Amino acid sequence: MDELVIRGGMILDGTGSEPVRADLAVREGRIAAITPHHSGPARRVVDARGLMVAPGFIDIKTHSDFTLPYAPRAESKILQGVTTEVVGHCGFSLAPVVPGRARLLQEYLAGFAPWIETRETTFAEYLDGFPATAVNTIMQVGHNTLRLMTVGMDDRAPTADEMAVMQRLLAEGLAAGARGLSSGLFTAPGSFARADELHALLGTVRRHGGAYATHLRSEAEGIFEAVREAIDASETSGVDVQIVHMKLSGLDNRGRAGQLLEEIEAARRRGVRVSCDAYPYTCAANPLRNLLPLWVQEGGLAAMLGRLRDPAVRRRVNREIDERGLTSFGRIASWDAVSISTSRTRSGDAGRRIAELARDAGAEPIDLVCDLLEADAGATFVVVCSIDEADVQALLRSPAVLVGSDGRSVSPDSVAGQGRPHPRFYGTFPRVLGHYARDLGLLSLPEAVHKMTGAPARILGLADRGLLREGYRADATTFDPATIIDRATYDDPHRYPAGIGTVLVNGVVVADAGQHTGALPGRVLRRGPGGIA
Ligand SMILES: [Zn+2]
Repeated sequence: MDELVIRGGMILDGTGSEPVRADLAVREGRIAAITPHHSGPARRVVDARGLMVAPGFIDIKTHSDFTLPYAPRAESKILQGVTTEVVGHCGFSLAPVVPGRARLLQEYLAGFAPWIETRETTFAEYLDGFPATAVNTIMQVGHNTLRLMTVGMDDRAPTADEMAVMQRLLAEGLAAGARGLSSGLFTAPGSFARADELHALLGTVRRHGGAYATHLRSEAEGIFEAVREAIDASETSGVDVQIVHMKLSGLDNRGRAGQLLEEIEAARRRGVRVSCDAYPYTCAANPLRNLLPLWVQEGGLAAMLGRLRDPAVRRRVNREIDERGLTSFGRIASWDAVSISTSRTRSGDAGRRIAELARDAGAEPIDLVCDLLEADAGATFVVVCSIDEADVQALLRSPAVLVGSDGRSVSPDSVAGQGRPHPRFYGTFPRVLGHYARDLGLLSLPEAVHKMTGAPARILGLADRGLLREGYRADATTFDPATIIDRATYDDPHRYPAGIGTVLVNGVVVADAGQHTGALPGRVLRRGPGGIA
């Protein structure tokens, strides 16, 4: 007997094809049948008349490895229809951790996620010990983590011995099932790496058949060079590259998305396997310390905080920001563009802008920033509004660009959901479907769903997910095309979207009529000879 039948919905199969009315039957975690009229008994029937039935959305760009152990129900993702998340991005992974380096990694990640506790682990042990979660996860080995395990926070090339250790740790991660290597070249210590170091690591990735995902060296003044660096890395190594959370940040980049996309299209035309993802928002989020010039962080947290106590250093930092803009984000009109997302010591100021807080305190913004970093021991997280809406739309329209939230699985009451997170944590996928596809007509509904399902599944090499096909894993979501919309805002981010109905992960109902059931059927998916499964 079939366990579940979703009856009467319009099947959007994830290929980009127009929807077709059919029933979808589930048995033993897989799609048993897609048929015009399902007959025969079923343990449960879900009435999907008037709804779309799509593959579960694949969030190809997240940091939910920071949160899933603390928020395993993944409410903010499940209730968007997301069933699989790719984590370990931007050079940050929680494994491997070699003896004696757990504390360094924990201090380092505190700027993103102060609740994280790290411990010594191989990559294989990390995958084996990952807790049960509602979503499936795909892991990557972070380059910043590899550097922390070897070179630490020093601004220098690795020695031959350190390079050999990085390659061994990476190879172990790939052998254990990691999708590939991620880099975060925008921030220390990844930013200290030169092309030859990355090339050597990508050689290891190629030997294991893995992929490369990169947070570019710059998303502001140096973005064109940074995109070329990513394309070169793929071309010289033969490894597929994913440019994550593609954006053009800062006043000097406004309106240049078309030009940037043309570079990427040209590379694709000559056979480079380069893809991108983007989130549908004009603000970004990052640790506050990453907005400062890179030299500020050299040597680690204590060194940074020591430096920032010196008034002369503060003046130099301020002058460099005036001249060159914020690191990673480029020139902004004022510190009004930056607001507090999470702060250990000023949680009551979450959502407030730096310039406004400085005015209230009668202080210079740079002093407020440095004092905040001191008080929070470097662990202040901020939202930066520095992206042009026209560029967001140009990226979303491009076939080269997938949908990735860059948001984490959280819930309002989990430790991982503290402060005011970026609304993309809760709204990315419904926002693309409701606001951009339906309301603005920027892309068709089948195209939008394809960008969240079949397209990322192909880029990732998923063996049996991402499409609605008989025999595939039953990861699926129903949604109402007339009402689906995001509701999370910058001021009120902990709001679930409207319009999501039933969400299945591995055939198990995780959302029922838009309510989380508490089920945790997600699995760690591992890369093997037949793809990721
Ligand atoms: Zn990133």
